[in-house]
Amino acid sequence: MDRDTSKQLIERAERSIPGGVNSPVRAFRGVGGAPVFFVDGQGAWLTDVDGNRYLDYVGSWGPMLQGHAFAPVVDAVRASARRGLSFGAPTEIEVRMAEAVIARVPSIERVRMVNSGTEAVMSAIRLARAYTGRDLIVKFGGCYHGHADALLAQAGSGLLTLGLPDSPGVPADTAKHTLTLPFNDAAAAAAAFDRYGARIATVIVEPVAGNMGCIPPRPGFLEALRDLTRAAGSVLIFDEVIAGFRVAPGGAQQLFGVTPDLTTLGKVIGGGLPVGAFGGKAKIMDRIAPLGDVYQAGTLSGNPLAMSAGLAMLQSLDEPFYRALAAATQRLARGIRDLAVRHSIPLTVNTVCGMFSIFFTPAPVTHFEQVAAADVDRYKRFFHAMLDRGVYFAPSAFETAFVSGAHGEGEIDHTLAAVDSTFREMAR
Ligand SMILES: *Cc1c(COP(=O)(O)O)cnc(C)c1O
Repeated sequence: MDRDTSKQLIERAERSIPGGVNSPVRAFRGVGGAPVFFVDGQGAWLTDVDGNRYLDYVGSWGPMLQGHAFAPVVDAVRASARRGLSFGAPTEIEVRMAEAVIARVPSIERVRMVNSGTEAVMSAIRLARAYTGRDLIVKFGGCYHGHADALLAQAGSGLLTLGLPDSPGVPADTAKHTLTLPFNDAAAAAAAFDRYGARIATVIVEPVAGNMGCIPPRPGFLEALRDLTRAAGSVLIFDEVIAGFRVAPGGAQQLFGVTPDLTTLGKVIGGGLPVGAFGGKAKIMDRIAPLGDVYQAGTLSGNPLAMSAGLAMLQSLDEPFYRALAAATQRLARGIRDLAVRHSIPLTVNTVCGMFSIFFTPAPVTHFEQVAAADVDRYKRFFHAMLDRGVYFAPSAFETAFVSGAHGEGEIDHTLAAVDSTFREMAR
């Protein structure tokens, strides 16, 4: 498969864009080789600048829940664009969008739109800090919450020591307000609350981890976070930027039956346009300006094009859609596991409706240390072999694969045939 035009484009891009990309994981540093430049997406399929076709399991990192160029979303955006692109004043579509979110996610009584997941998280954290009058944030290793300073902190030298900056440019003074704990470890969270409870403004967690591959919550983990935060008067934030509207109509909180105080949303909620949102209990959300004293704003927030796309996306999702999505994901995961046994490739496949990941390790994967211990070189071989067979997985061993409503029986058969021949090659 010839990808010469992509190779030329990345060399050209590197002369004007840092690393040639506008978001680092796109650069293929995790797998080696040149990134693929795409020109077209239809349903589950992508076409690159050299005319090659690929079955897509990246889905723009989550938003394309109905596949590419989904007609109801494209039509809604077209119709909206003809009426003007932005007014910086209220529009009815924003009200309809807020109502649609509230109708689907019962813990959300008020919601505000922003332009990215990062912005949603940053705003929710500020609000939680203002509401509690505390500074300390608890997050979990391997969870990603966007690139705001407060979240770019890593665990200090001991488990219960305050955080260190995870990137140059993040002040140590900022990172020290962030405590990083192991995901799925309720005992560690309890110990943190024993020591720091009265200082903890908020616990932020991906209820289904989606940024270290896909890791479902262990039974009792989210419940423990709910109990600990309630007892300490801290705000529990579910970062559902990936899981929201993907794993169930009401997100992970509906699937696992645990109710957070605040929720952050992104990805699917924009249908492919830049949208994020944060929402939750009215008594917390009403602290936001202009009603309250916590400042938060956005020139393009609630943009009519973005709201039209998001609303069309939400309206397309019903119970049968999620049942079919879960069934397709399960069938794919079972098929991959069976092929791994047949070719003696040790691996673990984790799934939660519409999300799955392949870890090249025989052991169950429930937290980040196990993800880090999986065989990354095997993933690289798998990635390139699949790419050459026309299947596009994430160019990193630490990402989740996304199935869409456009991945039908034929697409899954095509994937399993490519996996079969890839595993045969890898087993040699
Ligand atoms: C992608 C992601 C973010 C950041 O969203 P952006 O739109 O990329 O800023 C935040 N939280 C989670 C869980 C994410 O997966």
